[in-house]
Amino acid sequence: SLTGTGLHLSFGKNHVLRGVDIQVDAGTTTTVIGPSGSGKSTLLRVLNRLHEPDQGDILLDGRSVLADNPDELRRRIGMVFQHFNLFPHKTVAQNIALGPQKLRSLSKDEAHEVALRQLDIVGLRNKADARPGNLSGGQQQRVAIARALAMEPQVMFFDEATSALDPELVKGVLALITELSEKGMTMVVVTHEMGYARNVSDHVLFMDHGAVVETGAPEQIFTDASSERLRNFLSQVL
Ligand code: ATP
Ligand code: MG
Repeated sequence: SLTGTGLHLSFGKNHVLRGVDIQVDAGTTTTVIGPSGSGKSTLLRVLNRLHEPDQGDILLDGRSVLADNPDELRRRIGMVFQHFNLFPHKTVAQNIALGPQKLRSLSKDEAHEVALRQLDIVGLRNKADARPGNLSGGQQQRVAIARALAMEPQVMFFDEATSALDPELVKGVLALITELSEKGMTMVVVTHEMGYARNVSDHVLFMDHGAVVETGAPEQIFTDASSERLRNFLSQVL
């Protein structure tokens, strides 16, 4: 499990996280929804220590990780963003093999095997030797997911992983993320795809102005919201 307690973060005078608690149990999917600027991406970046919190704690399986080297936590958390940042001059398989080779100390051949296995999972084995530029945006995002999975992370973070994709490509990527969720991957998903959030998540967290305003099972969040702010938000996005 991954836990954040009482997380605060300011950028200068901008108090972006105002005491956020989040509990992600092993094998569950938590989605984070909320208006633009509410702090969703920042929460993910604090949870994997790309930003150090000003206050609060982060626990992995019940143990605080803040005294450890941040690289250790980042290695255990796979992150998939809106923009996939694949190396254009390397093949798809090389892009995926790079992390395991460098950070898991696998040999080149072992890392290549890992890459091919991950490409099977995301349905792109036949693109192993292609360059990223010759793939569609949806395929590139699936490669980025395979790259994160190749590190055998304990938790996967997705930050609007489909929002830069053409509409017709969104479905395939969401299907893959759903499949990972159903296989029992522990995931935190920031999304504006409310249909997805409703169908796939075990828990939904609604953030506004740097705070978790409401949290609950999807049925509760989407049909029985108790806060005015959540009802307003949903009426704008649904
Ligand atoms: P969106 O839905 O648009 O992606 P978000 O909920 O992910 O929004 P964040 O990106 O977390 O919002 O931003 C929250 C606030 O923190 C915003 O006011 C933003 O300007 C500020 N912020 C985020 N990153 C930084 C940074 N690196 N330096 C300074 N301010 C930042
Ligand atoms: Mg964001």
